[in-house]
Amino acid sequence: MTALFSAQGLSKERHPQSRAIELVSVEQYADWLATQAEFTRNWLTSQSFQGRATQFALLPDAGGQCNRVVAVIGGDTPYAIAHLPKLLPKGHYHRCPHSTAALSTDNLLLGWGLGAYRFERYLAKTEPAILHAEGQSARAESVLTASLEVRDWINTPTEHMGPDELEQAVRAIGADFQAKVSSICGEELLVENFPTIHAVGRAAHRAPRLIRLDWGDDAHPHVVLCGKGVCFDTGGLNIKAADGMRNMKKDMGGAAHALGLARLLMQNTVPVRLTLLIAAVENAIAGNAFRPGDVITTRQGLSVEIDNTDAEGRLVLADALALAGELKPDLIMDFATLTGAARIALGPDLPALFSNQDAVARDYLAAGESEHDPLWQMPLWQPYLGYLKSNVADLANSGASKMAGCMTAALFLQRFVPTETAWMHLDVYSWNDSERPGKPAGGEAQGLRAAFRFLQKKYDHRYFTDS
Ligand SMILES: [Zn+2]
Repeated sequence: MTALFSAQGLSKERHPQSRAIELVSVEQYADWLATQAEFTRNWLTSQSFQGRATQFALLPDAGGQCNRVVAVIGGDTPYAIAHLPKLLPKGHYHRCPHSTAALSTDNLLLGWGLGAYRFERYLAKTEPAILHAEGQSARAESVLTASLEVRDWINTPTEHMGPDELEQAVRAIGADFQAKVSSICGEELLVENFPTIHAVGRAAHRAPRLIRLDWGDDAHPHVVLCGKGVCFDTGGLNIKAADGMRNMKKDMGGAAHALGLARLLMQNTVPVRLTLLIAAVENAIAGNAFRPGDVITTRQGLSVEIDNTDAEGRLVLADALALAGELKPDLIMDFATLTGAARIALGPDLPALFSNQDAVARDYLAAGESEHDPLWQMPLWQPYLGYLKSNVADLANSGASKMAGCMTAALFLQRFVPTETAWMHLDVYSWNDSERPGKPAGGEAQGLRAAFRFLQKKYDHRYFTDS
């Protein structure tokens, strides 16, 4: 934990040569400027410094030493300061006690840590500007750790993050919190009746598996988290074109989210009985690959005709969700990089949320607003299930129409969830295409802070009782 903490550009110790960052809000900037010495006023105005949100400046003393920074803050969110760690000169910093802008300690810590992140597994280590993390909470630190782990897991190339390595990641987290971890692997999937996970993953040289983690007190409400862990998606025999395949190491992003959320629930001892189910496969091409036109009888009993082998995420989730339903939990949440259609509809930054219970979905959306981690609800519009009609099976995994693709995928999943069980499905991109403050290019946790806040508020009355 300590090593990770320093890698995030945060330090628990205050360095003796630390520079003070004075946080000033946009609204207060003019008043703040008026209180400054003439030298400082001239320094800023001669650089056309206007006090806009996210502007910052190093402030020299008479000898030219910059021991102060002014940073203008647009609001109390982690992203208000997330640009600073990579733009300030290397060195140590702390929040100036005279800062007038409202920025919670949690948002300061989280924003700095999210902004300082760089995936360095294959690079020489660099040191970002380091912030003294004053009075941080264990909760905020756990949220940051989980967010960065999700990024690391997604950013790790498939050669080093296959189904086996994903299982090892679950086992490592499980060991930290005395959880029980098991795995059903390879041909055993057929014996234990997980035919879709086997069919999708059987062509890869690394065995497909269903990874399961159990934790908590049986007397507490039972929450099941499911994750799509397609460690690489070639598209199968319906092979993807180069552009579409390029980033498919991220097709286990849903599993990464589910695992990160499981860590948060365990580390913060949320009083739930937790089950994590990760369907981990590579959708590869070989002589034994599943084919268009094949029919798979799923664990739940519905038969599915394969229309397109690239619609594999919903197949592996079908058997995982069927098991989740058998456990008769209080709530099922699944996370998946499921459809390009969700990105066409909502773009990269808004995960698409589907639920069979609107009240539950509303609470998740509200948690997203509070956490500056937004989601958008989409409808389970039942008539569109007609797009998945098959002439030889109960339903097809895809169809001829490109209409409403994220909805037909969600409707497919819904067929495998008991109607009486509260269920939420998040279709999430898990990726930043470009570098932005606090959102570095590459793997990203989206809807994770929101999910944790939602679950903590729902099940842990030590938190958020006031709102
Ligand atoms: Zn696919």
